[in-house]
Amino acid sequence: MRLPLAIAVPLVLVASACSDPEPPGTPEAQPSASSGASSPTATSAPTPSSTSTPTPDPEPRRPRLGPSDVDLDTALDAVGVLAGEIGPRPGHTRAYFRAADYVEGQLTDFGWTVARQRFPTPAGSFDGQPVAAGPSVNLIATRGDVRDGEPYVVVGAHLDTVPGAPGAEDNASGIATMLAIAEAAAGRRTRLPVVLVAFGSEEPRGPNDDDHHYGSRAYVASLSGAQRRSLEAMVSLDRVGVGGVVPVGTPAEPNALTDELQAVAEKIGVPTQIDPFQRSSDHWSFVRDGLPGARLGSTPYAGYHSPGDTPSVIDPSQLERTARLVAGWLR
Ligand SMILES: [Zn+2]
Repeated sequence: MRLPLAIAVPLVLVASACSDPEPPGTPEAQPSASSGASSPTATSAPTPSSTSTPTPDPEPRRPRLGPSDVDLDTALDAVGVLAGEIGPRPGHTRAYFRAADYVEGQLTDFGWTVARQRFPTPAGSFDGQPVAAGPSVNLIATRGDVRDGEPYVVVGAHLDTVPGAPGAEDNASGIATMLAIAEAAAGRRTRLPVVLVAFGSEEPRGPNDDDHHYGSRAYVASLSGAQRRSLEAMVSLDRVGVGGVVPVGTPAEPNALTDELQAVAEKIGVPTQIDPFQRSSDHWSFVRDGLPGARLGSTPYAGYHSPGDTPSVIDPSQLERTARLVAGWLR
């Protein structure tokens, strides 16, 4: 934890929405939670000494987010909770909702406002075993700075696992990195507003392209025209704690977004490698619907989709590389 300055107050003024779940199919309740009724955060920030300050400063001296602001312990703790304590968590299960409660609690503690987006997941099968139908949920976190018609970015990671896999690398690693970013970014400026999303039911329930990525497809389908037009980029963090090089995945060829991610990585000394025609994560739900998206992660490992996907497979250095890259990109 770093010292939350008085400056951080505007970020938490928008009261928690977590006790008021979104009804299923609500098309536009998110992610711009702060538009309309809630007042502009800058004017409502009560700074004790403001009466004696001659020039009011609406954006006072919040430090800018940088790669070194990420606290690796936050990420490692999250891997331990999700993969060590909670374990396998297919998107419709009780364990999944326990995991969602945990992640929502962390995001809220860090000063983010969290909305829940429920969506149905159909029955299917994985590895020959039936998987039951049931509702799942996306967690959508904002800091109160997303405005209709103004550019923003989405950083997401799936929170579910396949049946029987504790999912340390797939994908507690991505959620853990996202939480470390949430903590680091809470009281700091970024070049654009950021929406963080923990997606439910990413894992496959059948062999076809419509048999996975249910949460991210529900999220994309819920975006208004204005929200779609303003989305500058989406980055999916999926399997980001194994290996020594960070894969930069794109559903087709390298493009402006992957160039940008690689340029940031090079600048801060994080080795990357392009992973072309990569469609096996939530970024694909965005790109297949005409929105810009990329994936970080996907290095092969022995415990993949198995009971062996335990916290010991995670290399803290790789988590740190990925988190630094994301922080550098958001900067
Ligand atoms: Zn995954």
